[in-house]
Amino acid sequence: MRVRLIRAAGLAALLTSLSACNSPSHPSIHESLNATLWTMTAPEYFASASQAYRAARDNLVVALNDPQWSAAIEQTGDYAALPPAVLMDIDQTILDTSIYNARIVTEHGEYTQKTFSDWCHEATAPAIPGAKNFIQDALSRGVKIIYYSRRIESLRECTTKNLQALGLPVEQEFLLLNNYQPETEKAYLRAQLSDTFRILLLVGDDLDDFVANSKTDPVSRMALVRQYHEHWGRKWVVLPNPMYGAWDTSLYGHDYGMPRHQRVDAKVQYLSNQ
Ligand SMILES: [Mg+2]
Repeated sequence: MRVRLIRAAGLAALLTSLSACNSPSHPSIHESLNATLWTMTAPEYFASASQAYRAARDNLVVALNDPQWSAAIEQTGDYAALPPAVLMDIDQTILDTSIYNARIVTEHGEYTQKTFSDWCHEATAPAIPGAKNFIQDALSRGVKIIYYSRRIESLRECTTKNLQALGLPVEQEFLLLNNYQPETEKAYLRAQLSDTFRILLLVGDDLDDFVANSKTDPVSRMALVRQYHEHWGRKWVVLPNPMYGAWDTSLYGHDYGMPRHQRVDAKVQYLSNQ
């Protein structure tokens, strides 16, 4: 019920703003409008996320029963006897950030660390459909859940509070956040954790959650996905995220400092060149 109320409040704000967007003083619609609406309202989004977590649950059982199974390319050597773990991204994998994105569409215009931090401290993000059941099922099977996120260290407390509010246990040692150093890069973390755990599954919404060197151009990123096509829906479980991610920033060279209107221009240009 609480999730529905939060979603309803976010949606109401979005619809109010839409009226404003159609007025002469707001001639343009925000570029994230449809992506945010789809994530917040489409039953197809709910079904897609549920489908992803069903695949995760089914493959977890297979992985547990196969000592040679590892989901991390970075994991080599003798890992068969190591305790099992699942590596999970947080935003748009476990926590639903679409309400923050609705605020971008209606109020902020674009992501900033300040507004994201303010939203994080509300600690009210609902869970992505299927995430909670999957995590609880994995824990009941003795599998360690390791959260690894690009959220920054200063968001540790609000992130913990939000996860715990959803009934998800958090061991601080296994809440791995971003301090902008190479040792918090996800590929580095996968390699490090491979010494201690057999990694059963990777779950995320961005290529970086699965494979190194993914922050490249769209064509190279697609080649990377194809290279590891056997992993998708099996060892690697990806959640849909049309709102943001490296798929988006790759369209303007991952230049985070580029003014918003130039980023939009670059994306339109990308389409015109197809
Ligand atoms: Mg994410």
